[in-house]
Amino acid sequence: MPSVYIKTYGCQMNERDSEAVAAQLVAKGYTLAGSEATADVVLLNTCSVRDAAEQKALRKMENVAAELRRTRPGVVLGFLGCMAQSRGRELIDRLPDVDLVVGTQKFHRTAEYLDDLLAGRRDKIVEVAEEDKSEAAIREHLLYGQGAPSSKFKPQVTAFVSIMQGCNQYCTFCIVPFTRGEERSRTISDIVAECRELVTRGVKEVTLLGQIVTSYAKRELPPKEGKSPFVQLLEAVHSVEGLERIRFTSPHPKGYGDDLVEAYGRLPKLVESAHLPVQSGSDRILKLMHRGYSRERYLGLVEKLRRTCPHIGVSTDFIVGFPGETEEDFEQTLSLAREVEFDQAFIFKYSIRRDTPAAQMPGQLPQAVKEERNQRLLALVNEIAARKYQRLVGQTVEILTEGPSKKNPARLMGRTRCNKIVVFEGAERHRGQLMRLRITHAGSFTLHGDPATLNGD
Ligand code: SF4
Repeated sequence: MPSVYIKTYGCQMNERDSEAVAAQLVAKGYTLAGSEATADVVLLNTCSVRDAAEQKALRKMENVAAELRRTRPGVVLGFLGCMAQSRGRELIDRLPDVDLVVGTQKFHRTAEYLDDLLAGRRDKIVEVAEEDKSEAAIREHLLYGQGAPSSKFKPQVTAFVSIMQGCNQYCTFCIVPFTRGEERSRTISDIVAECRELVTRGVKEVTLLGQIVTSYAKRELPPKEGKSPFVQLLEAVHSVEGLERIRFTSPHPKGYGDDLVEAYGRLPKLVESAHLPVQSGSDRILKLMHRGYSRERYLGLVEKLRRTCPHIGVSTDFIVGFPGETEEDFEQTLSLAREVEFDQAFIFKYSIRRDTPAAQMPGQLPQAVKEERNQRLLALVNEIAARKYQRLVGQTVEILTEGPSKKNPARLMGRTRCNKIVVFEGAERHRGQLMRLRITHAGSFTLHGDPATLNGD
């Protein structure tokens, strides 16, 4: 059977989608190739959130096409995901070597399209249809990756579980509502069944995934005893025996009700970690972004979370250089970063996305201004994070050992409950174990644990 290589760009949702497509292909008899050099099919699962991500995937495809068409003319080349959804046929017009373009609503049909291309039944395939809102279509699409596909190929301690697709928030800078469509949620019973299945395969930690998980099933399920559908889901997943930890991403700060804050205090498997994308510290910019919260409300939320869990790890996303952002607005972002003291922050320079309201806003800033603000904010968040990591030296933390460290495969890595990476010297038998380690020193966004202090063996 033909072999397939999938390269993934962008967020964890994309990683999860690639896993699901890979599982679907393996179930149909395809094999997975270790690199594009040996594959019969090369698929790039793309990201549209920033222009740089799109350009990277386009350049990659140009290079792959130039190389492989020369050496192996029969190879099938395809784009999947967000850029495929937003650009459609334009991709084949620009790169005629591309055979397949599959949008975000059609992932579940990838194997069928490849069968057609490889058998010569169709020449080029572009499938980026508008979303089918029938219940059957939603279920088919949302269920396509159910069942821990990547664990079929390698032992896994942690896994992503997709709980919903799409977003109805329409932040003015964001292309996601256009590439992923409206919010559609899986049922609690489907998600719990997938988590149970994962546990039988050795998974100890799940990350519940969606573009805006705090809006999970808002339209389908009523609140119960003051608990939102998302908190109801957390409780249901929490009851899965053998599962040790639950994470989720991405939430929206405005969806963090008291019921969710309170859940951190009473669900022990829900780890003390919150990714709270703030984007800006200026109320004026937050309003232009259509974020739905104020600086004060955001700060109040962080305070409530820290009151419930004093050691909670708080991370965020910032956008610098949004249209019309003045130096004063940016100073407010800096002051918010100082006030919150994030454990980690991801900074993005505003990137014009076509069809989004912000693309038409006056006051688009020069690249040099975005760059300069990016550097200043980066220096500040790095300095704060380094201080926070340093404070952990000498303390004992609980980690879940995931496997070899990416940077140094001779060592193992695990994550603390607060989502910090710890590297230590251990053995294969420690994979999948919850362990207590003493932190000996801190590097840049990595902690190092002392093997001499390992509990047990
Ligand atoms: S909530 Fe997130 S995914 Fe939804 S529009 Fe805003 S930034 Fe995009």
